Amino acid sequence: MPFVISPAPRRRRLVALAVCAVVGTAVGGVAASHSVGAAHGPATATATPVAHLRHVGEGGEGGEGGEGGEGGEGGGGGGGVVGVFSDDPTVTHLDPDLLAALRRAATDAAKQRGIQLVVNSGWRSAKDQAGLLDDAIRKYGSKAAAEKWVATPETSEHVKGEAVDLGPAAARTWLSQHGAAYGLCQIYANESWHYELRPSAVKHGCPAMYADPTQDPRMRQ
Ligand SMILES: [Zn+2]
Repeated sequence: MPFVISPAPRRRRLVALAVCAVVGTAVGGVAASHSVGAAHGPATATATPVAHLRHVGEGGEGGEGGEGGEGGEGGGGGGGVVGVFSDDPTVTHLDPDLLAALRRAATDAAKQRGIQLVVNSGWRSAKDQAGLLDDAIRKYGSKAAAEKWVATPETSEHVKGEAVDLGPAAARTWLSQHGAAYGLCQIYANESWHYELRPSAVKHGCPAMYADPTQDPRMRQ
């Protein structure tokens, strides 16, 4: 009798552990976003895969594993993780004010805490963005479904040079605490790596985050 029933509980326990890992990731993201005053409700566990999907395929998983299970979602950018002082187009084609703010923040993070701030994905060409969308259409079966997770070349802030995906985890933690002083704000509660410039944040703090990109009116054009 014990032989018969013993495997089942063990399997259940493994499943439970896997679920906890996912929830733990989501909670970690929420904790980080609350520290910069997110007004939105907690991101759900299902929001984390959304975040991941949106950035997966952006040229491969960047080499920053071990970030609470989010692994390389911020690691796109053609496999080219670069410093903010790089002359790579992903950096140099960013909006000049955003880039200047990034460089000021990176300089201070390095000086104060020895933290190196890197760009996992910055500016993207419309063609690259269209490729990401095509990949998503294949994955989800329709353009309408794909656009829930991947911005079009027309709506992507990355194509405009006005968004940047940053890492590694230590840099993101530092930015969640100090980014506003440079006008650098996390925009989506479920994307701890995606930053845009909000100049008013220097005086007033970052605006409330959207729970995820589907809540952002700019993505519904
Ligand atoms: Zn992004």
